[in-house]
Amino acid sequence: MQTKIYFDHAATTPVRKEVLEKMLPYFTEYYGNASSVYGIAKESKQAMERARKQVADAIGAKPEEICFTAGGSESDNMALRGVAEALEKRGKHIITSAIEHHAVLHTCEYLEKKGFRVTYLPTDADGKVSPADVERAIEADTILVSIMFANNEIGTIEPIEEIAAVAHKHGILFHTDAVQAVGHVPIDVEKMGIDLLSLSGHKLGAPKGIGALYIRKGTPIKPLIYGGAQERNRRAGTENIPGIVGLGKAVELAVNSMEEITPRLQQMRDRLIDGILEKIPYSKLNGHRTDRLPGNCNISFSYIEGESMLLLLDALGIAASSGSACTSGSLDPSHVLMALGLPHEQAHGSLRLTLDWDNTEEEIDFILEKLPGIVERLRQMSPLYEAVKG
Ligand SMILES: *Cc1c(COP(=O)(O)O)cnc(C)c1O
Repeated sequence: MQTKIYFDHAATTPVRKEVLEKMLPYFTEYYGNASSVYGIAKESKQAMERARKQVADAIGAKPEEICFTAGGSESDNMALRGVAEALEKRGKHIITSAIEHHAVLHTCEYLEKKGFRVTYLPTDADGKVSPADVERAIEADTILVSIMFANNEIGTIEPIEEIAAVAHKHGILFHTDAVQAVGHVPIDVEKMGIDLLSLSGHKLGAPKGIGALYIRKGTPIKPLIYGGAQERNRRAGTENIPGIVGLGKAVELAVNSMEEITPRLQQMRDRLIDGILEKIPYSKLNGHRTDRLPGNCNISFSYIEGESMLLLLDALGIAASSGSACTSGSLDPSHVLMALGLPHEQAHGSLRLTLDWDNTEEEIDFILEKLPGIVERLRQMSPLYEAVKG
């Protein structure tokens, strides 16, 4: 099918042309190792420091507080394991939520095997973590609170400033997985009281395999990767200069264009949500209606399988997602939708459409025109639906 409509920006984004252009010379022309002393190496080093400042400026940090990594998963691993290892003498308890990305959840499970205790907080029906619940979960030996900035499946934005304040009131460090939020929601680590923040390039127009961890000055943390003295001894390995240059440019572009793009995305998102809910019976929005990522639409359709919807959409040239990309292929419903308390039949029939800068009104029209027929066709094959319709 020739139509190519990409509604899966929460899974990954294309590299923006402006970003690729900035990166290209660092593959073939300025290929020096940033640790060397000659001319092209200095060029690499300077480019890296420019990018570090671009990332820092975008979140209100200082350049020396930015540590480049190989992506969001590494940043999450480093934050949790690095702090846990640095503070294990002080305490062995960590607080997180049930709706985190697997990069956080599976790292927590690993830490549990290593003798740490982890509290997985529930959320309300919209996917919000309550700051009061965080406070109640704090124990004498809690060392870290890690709550995501915005959820990758349902788009709900968490009360980060309030949760960070609770953690700090008790002298506890606060980490946030902001992979979905950076470039989409205003972030100021100083004002919000964030000690560690994970971000990733490929969710905002930079390539896959590059990311960063913001580490507030003075935060105790052990490295995940040992070797050379790169990144102030925090992350060994010859720096991925093209990736770093791309990340800096992409973050800068996203943050500078946020004011202009956000209202447009929100308007398209709301037209999509309202249109689907209006046209398709037995459909339900997942996630918070307004405290929500500007490009996220996640809707459950009772009596059908999300996966079969994806196949029919794909046949029309539409890329979308059901649950999260990481769980598709397995038959388990998404842990996020289950945590919201959705019954199985709704958790299975979810569709996530995530928009960004390159989507158009015509694409919204197209899916609003096609989706009702797809859902109806699938429901015709469902014995459950027959029983409900009577
Ligand atoms: C994509 C994603 C990650 C993982 O980032 P990678 O760069 O793919 O490793 C972590 N957390 C959230 C919320 C994400 O959406």
